[in-house]
Amino acid sequence: MPIARLALDVPLDRLFDYSAPTLSHQDIGKLAIVSFGRRRQVGLIVEVVEASEVPAAKLKQIEFVIEDGVRLGADDLSLLRFCSEYYHHPFGQVVFTALPPALRRTRANLRRAATIERYRLSPAGEALTVDQFAERRLGARRLLSHLQASKGVSTVELPALGDAARRALKLFLANGWLLAQPAAAMAAGDARHDYKHLALSTEQAHTYSEISSQIDSFAVWLIHGVTGSGKTEIYLRAIEDVLCVGKQALVLLPEINLTPKVEGHFRSRFPSAAIVCLHSVVSEAERGKHFLAAQNGTADVVIGTRLSVFTPLPRLGLIVVDEEHDASYKQNDGLRYHARDLAIFRAKQRGVPVILGSATPSLESYANASAGRYRLQRLAERAQPDARLPATRLINMRAVRGGSGLSAEVVDALRLRLQRGEQSLVFINRRGYAPVLFCPSCAWMAPCTRCSARMVLHTRTGSLQCHHCGRSAQVPAQCPDCGEQELLPVGRGTQRIETLLREALPDARLLRVDRDSMARKDAWTQALAKIENHEVDLLVGTQMLAKGHDFKRLTLVALLDVDQALFSPNFRAAERLFALIVQVAGRAGRASLPGEVLIQTMVPNHPLFAAALTHDYAAFARTELAAREAAGFPPFVHQALLRAEALQQRALHEFMQRAVQQARAAKPKVTVYEPLAPAIERVAGKSRLQLLVQSRSRQQLQEFLRQWNAQLAAADERRVRWAIDVDPLEL
Ligand code: ADP
Ligand code: ZN
Ligand code: ZN
Repeated sequence: MPIARLALDVPLDRLFDYSAPTLSHQDIGKLAIVSFGRRRQVGLIVEVVEASEVPAAKLKQIEFVIEDGVRLGADDLSLLRFCSEYYHHPFGQVVFTALPPALRRTRANLRRAATIERYRLSPAGEALTVDQFAERRLGARRLLSHLQASKGVSTVELPALGDAARRALKLFLANGWLLAQPAAAMAAGDARHDYKHLALSTEQAHTYSEISSQIDSFAVWLIHGVTGSGKTEIYLRAIEDVLCVGKQALVLLPEINLTPKVEGHFRSRFPSAAIVCLHSVVSEAERGKHFLAAQNGTADVVIGTRLSVFTPLPRLGLIVVDEEHDASYKQNDGLRYHARDLAIFRAKQRGVPVILGSATPSLESYANASAGRYRLQRLAERAQPDARLPATRLINMRAVRGGSGLSAEVVDALRLRLQRGEQSLVFINRRGYAPVLFCPSCAWMAPCTRCSARMVLHTRTGSLQCHHCGRSAQVPAQCPDCGEQELLPVGRGTQRIETLLREALPDARLLRVDRDSMARKDAWTQALAKIENHEVDLLVGTQMLAKGHDFKRLTLVALLDVDQALFSPNFRAAERLFALIVQVAGRAGRASLPGEVLIQTMVPNHPLFAAALTHDYAAFARTELAAREAAGFPPFVHQALLRAEALQQRALHEFMQRAVQQARAAKPKVTVYEPLAPAIERVAGKSRLQLLVQSRSRQQLQEFLRQWNAQLAAADERRVRWAIDVDPLEL
């Protein structure tokens, strides 16, 4: 009798056998409902075999198979298996990280999600005009103008047009005004429909023709293009190439870059393609539908954040990873995967190209390109003929008297932009009002009781907040140690800079952009619209503002307090600061207005600034890579980190000691360091330790990790939570 072997969402790295009288190989890759312990669970059918080691009497039967739902192919399964092996994470949990939550739930949900349809106007429909519908019939009017503008509508796009439009679709269908459009069969040439191409710059044209000439085979392309060099246009052309031959494209973006505007840009560029988005703002139900649309081949383009790297794409022709250096591609809990690296695995597996793009490539990718493993394409000029890279200037804060943290030069430069009707951005990478509340009498500093960290003063809410565990407390009226009544906020965050700027420039329309002010769901979209419509003169914000956006009127960027990064113990801090300066500076002077960047620093002679001032990434990368090689840091070695946390210090130390002994007992060909406390030792009441292992050989590291992980898991330690982080970014 056939036995189905299922992956379940449990922390055990094994499959579970169920008897399945009616199943065959055809059912591999589908989900099934089974009973597990006392509960029912959804599992993925991974194998169908003839015999089980479990005695027949003990075997439970599969309850039912979910048809018309998830249907992973052999490629998808091998991607998930690779992911489980490489990141040393239980296979079942990898599977259920990769699947959208909505698809793991009820049967009904899955049914509804299964189909996606596309319609275009029939000849009768084309004869319609919007004015034929009364003003109040908003849905019909909106649907018709959408159909007229974009040559079609798919059921995945409907929710964006509103409920009334959804009802109007039924009316249109009933009246014969629509024709069902077979998706997946986009006529060649259709993707190029009507679009007036920008004339590519010489550099763009060269890069595009290189990629295009090898669009049918695996290669990793690294486009190193300065901000504004028009990388997007190259992605679009390459995507067009694959759409025209009936293939699908996957586009990965950092969360913060995936805005409705980007989505709209893709839609208007490829009006007859079915484009779906997968990111956290899309509702769970929608995400489920989009996943299935991609899997069933009805979606042509998938745009999404890191998680969408797992989307099944039977007709995959191209993967794009924009801002490939962005740290948000790495997941920092659960399955600690890196979406860029998995994208490369997928491209190789499927024999299709993957394009990585960035103005400041990760040193890993750059080293790969320099070694000839990736194909490097350089775009050194901004694409718009009159756009220039901004002039960058350092302001020596050692020469500035008084401690407001805002130099007169910056304030003057902001005032000048205000007078000219241009926009400015003041960047400070810390939210809240002040990072420390200090007692001048006894040197007490408000601590978090659950973390080894200080509480941040937030004046908006009149509270102290811990940015590590989220604890919030009232601002004390006096020092709890000595009774001093005048407690001082020390240091600066976005709120304090906002206050200072409102005093200095009372006429400026100011908008603060950080996680606190953007907590509401649509706040970010609204903020972007305000900036776009020039309802804002001055932006104050954290790195939410640093990336990717194209603000036409923004001509000045000021960076405050960047110095911490220069003295950070994390060897990646310099790389990040360089990227940050280039990215933030890239927001200035995107269009024809010339841009300027001001950087306040106490250490203007630091070599990093020399390269940053001239936007000389290559020089920076050369110096930094040489230093990393000398010091034996990635990308010249491969690392993994054992992270552990526990409420009891003792349990934690015992666990780590055992882990070190086991690691060394194996006489591994890897270097095993001593356990260390991370920068913040205690978070939310739990103590933490970490242990670094590294090797010049990725393969040897992997072999070591496999054994070690099995030993650690076998000990079944309940008091300690631990995980192996392969290629860690945060140390
Ligand atoms: P990047 O992603 O490299 O920072 P973008 O792709 O956002 O740059 O392009 C920057 C700006 O230049 C955009 O406004 C884009 O429309 C414009 N652009 C791109 N290519 C061209 C071109 N060939 N001619 C004119 N403008 C262009
Ligand atoms: Zn005190
Ligand atoms: Zn805390």
